[in-house]
Amino acid sequence: MQGNLNVQTENIFPVIKKFLYSDHEIFLRELISNAIDATQKLKALSSRGEYQGELGDLTVEVKIDKKKLIISDRGIGMTQDEIDKYINQIAFSGANDFLDKYKDVQENLIGHFGLGFYSAFMVADKVEIDTKSYKEAPAMHWSCDGSPEFEMKEGKKKERGTDIILHIADDCKEFLEEHRILELLKKYCRFMPIAIRFGEESKWEDSETEFTEVDDGNGGKKKQPKRVEKKVPRIINDTDPAWRKKPADLTDEDYKKFYHELYPMNFEDPLFQIHLNVDYPFNLTGILYFPKVRKTIDPNRNKIQLYCNQVFVTDSVEGVVPEYLMLLHGVLDSPDIPLNVSRSYLQSDSNVKKIAQHISKKVADKLEEMSKIKVELKDAEGNDVTDAPTQLEEKWDDIKIFVEYGMLTEEKFCERAMKFSLLKNTEGKYFKLDDYREKIKALQTDKDKNVIYLYATDVDEQHAYISKAKEKGYDVLLMDSVLNSHYINLLEQRIEKTRFVRVDGDTVEKLIAHEDSIPEKLTQEEKDKLKPIIENEVDKARFTVMLESMESDDQPMVITQNEFMRRYKEMSQTSGGGMGFYGEMPDSYNLVVNINHPLIGQVLNEGDADKQKQLVHQLTDLALLSNGLLKGEALTQFIKRSVDIIK
Ligand code: ADP
Repeated sequence: MQGNLNVQTENIFPVIKKFLYSDHEIFLRELISNAIDATQKLKALSSRGEYQGELGDLTVEVKIDKKKLIISDRGIGMTQDEIDKYINQIAFSGANDFLDKYKDVQENLIGHFGLGFYSAFMVADKVEIDTKSYKEAPAMHWSCDGSPEFEMKEGKKKERGTDIILHIADDCKEFLEEHRILELLKKYCRFMPIAIRFGEESKWEDSETEFTEVDDGNGGKKKQPKRVEKKVPRIINDTDPAWRKKPADLTDEDYKKFYHELYPMNFEDPLFQIHLNVDYPFNLTGILYFPKVRKTIDPNRNKIQLYCNQVFVTDSVEGVVPEYLMLLHGVLDSPDIPLNVSRSYLQSDSNVKKIAQHISKKVADKLEEMSKIKVELKDAEGNDVTDAPTQLEEKWDDIKIFVEYGMLTEEKFCERAMKFSLLKNTEGKYFKLDDYREKIKALQTDKDKNVIYLYATDVDEQHAYISKAKEKGYDVLLMDSVLNSHYINLLEQRIEKTRFVRVDGDTVEKLIAHEDSIPEKLTQEEKDKLKPIIENEVDKARFTVMLESMESDDQPMVITQNEFMRRYKEMSQTSGGGMGFYGEMPDSYNLVVNINHPLIGQVLNEGDADKQKQLVHQLTDLALLSNGLLKGEALTQFIKRSVDIIK
């Protein structure tokens, strides 16, 4: 029988070919998915008793035979009517609809799912189907060379199932190369639910018939089976991947093993994982792993993979996974994510929204749970350590970036996270937000009833300031993440009557302004005289000289940086645009002069202009040094000057 395919376009195949030019390779996924579907349908019929014959070996096989690529299954097969209905009519009219509908959004398509059987023509100039149904019906042979005509006649196939034979086009020869096909099978079919065989692989095992002689360790010899190479069928997939199993059936080791199966090139273990398993109102399974986030994150490595019933679809999961979780690793599998639609449509889809919310909620649940469970630690006598850290504390440094980013971008997550999010102080202790406020409230409330959270961003560089603050009994937080300035703003908005001040934001007296101020030792006249003496010696573009009344045993000079200027500058650098003005400002500092310090008195009263200059220089350099700002030439000069003074 010959016929015309039910298509409107004169010749649809060149269109198909061009349409998905960049994504030719998905034909293999489509054809193997069909083979797997046909096989699973047969298994279902058999288990319901509707098919009584032998199932036999159901392995799907992929073969390269000269210029042909063949995909064979032992599934339900097709009768003549079925070919007519599913291939001749539906399939090709489907192609037309598809092209009509998505002409404009081709760049945007996620995975190009649902292209189905006819995607074969992206790589083949002729396609044959050899099929025999599980029903009592003659075998059928169908072929089509890419024109709208096809040929269909009785076939010779003896066994139940379907062979799809692709005559690979000259410009697609890559699909006749073993390594290329293996690569595609590994990419798209790695977790498909029916075994897929492609060629053979070597396995080394003990021979039963051949032996070699080796030393037995006592000066004699003993026989040992020879290691021999055996060729075995190469099965390219794991038909029962971990995410499809019940969490209760999996150990931590199993999860780790699966992680390395998923990312064979990543040798580091994940920190922990979340197993997703939802039936209603949408279907979603999957495992999300929290990796250790490095300072240099490469978002293109080890991305989350999206599957649809164990068929790989894509690893660009924007829209499906909340943005702050894009750096997680793992798999998601859901038949409820519409796949052949544009990304913008995807994000407005209600199921997809629900899935994203569900993932976010599960992540919050897990983190909250971890904040309540202590790590099991034993002391030397084998007793439980009572002040062991919680699981969340233990992992906090590695995951805080997720939590902070999530709090900044997701209102709901933020609400939840306010309960478990942690602050770490410069002594390495962790506190929940509420607990920390309780701890510092007594000493760190200023005269306006604001609780002042002091923080450092670098323990070494800000050491002098940290120890000054600690001398006063204050606690200093360590806030060293890249999102700091944004995160601090968020906390100031969320927690009433709260201000964050970096320890070098002001002199220790002024960091937290209490009522009483220290009496001044200089008169206004003396101050007016002192200021220009110091100003003359510093770079005025960078430093503003400020005279302050501090304790006489505090440092004579201190460098501080205005909290808000600095924070805005940092924020504009991490958010790219918007606050450009601040980003371009040079760093500016305050040079705070302690007018109560005896050395400042000495500066004022020094009669010799050179000596006065030298003294001011020495004092400013010391202040810069303690702030890590004295570098290069200036540092060399300082050392030289210091040696001269000691001499
Ligand atoms: P889809 O798989 O999305 O329905 P396809 O164009 O891939 O669309 O296939 C159309 C139909 O052809 C399938 O639904 C199935 O009924 C039939 N079919 C395709 N391949 C096979 C196969 N290997 N064995 C049995 N039936 C098949």
